[in-house]
Amino acid sequence: MLDADFFRRWMTTAAASVDREAERLTTLDSAIGDADHGSNLQRGFTAVATALEKEAPDTPGAVLTLAGRQLISTVGGASGPLYGTLLRRTGKALGDAAEVDEEKLAAALREGVDGVMKLGGAAPGDKTMIDALVPAVDALSSGFAAARAAAEEGAEATTPLQARKGRASYLGERSIGHQDPGATSSALLIAALADTAEA
Ligand code: ADP
Ligand code: MG
Ligand code: MG
Repeated sequence: MLDADFFRRWMTTAAASVDREAERLTTLDSAIGDADHGSNLQRGFTAVATALEKEAPDTPGAVLTLAGRQLISTVGGASGPLYGTLLRRTGKALGDAAEVDEEKLAAALREGVDGVMKLGGAAPGDKTMIDALVPAVDALSSGFAAARAAAEEGAEATTPLQARKGRASYLGERSIGHQDPGATSSALLIAALADTAEA
């Protein structure tokens, strides 16, 4: 079973990963966006880690809703409300249970990803974070490692796509040939989940 501490560790592992990879995320965003994705998420996840330490929420749902709120209020840019919605919706779906199993987490994450698609209007194949998140959630019933591999593959598969949502879509065909920054950070978030489960 997964308790609040597991979810706190997922978020702090994600924060550390975003810190390590911020430059790479910003470089990807400089090719098809405005070169701020790494710094946006670094600011957001630093705020998440600080808030979790200060408020110490004691259920899985409360950890994720707090994290989502922090992302919405600190990340300027498209990815803040989208990732914020992902975590808040997932947290809300987890309810107030002290512990959840993997099946419950998979179902809750599915609701979170649905929330992102509703808010941003993106579907799979539009070259966004959705291209990593949907395969990850689909694979989660086979385990955390399968979800990590699926997210990574999904992110890499955005390279030949033309962007249909977000800033990159303004480039039209010139968005082809670059990996999407948001799909890349989503793969980091899922990898952090798998790392937490394996630790
Ligand atoms: P901004 O584009 O406002 O500078 P970021 O650089 O932080 O925001 O995030 C860009 C990422 O957000 C993109 O790479 C893409 O994955 C994701 N994104 C943008 N618009 C959407 C959308 N409508 N639906 C889903 N994801 C989106
Ligand atoms: Mg950007
Ligand atoms: Mg921006």
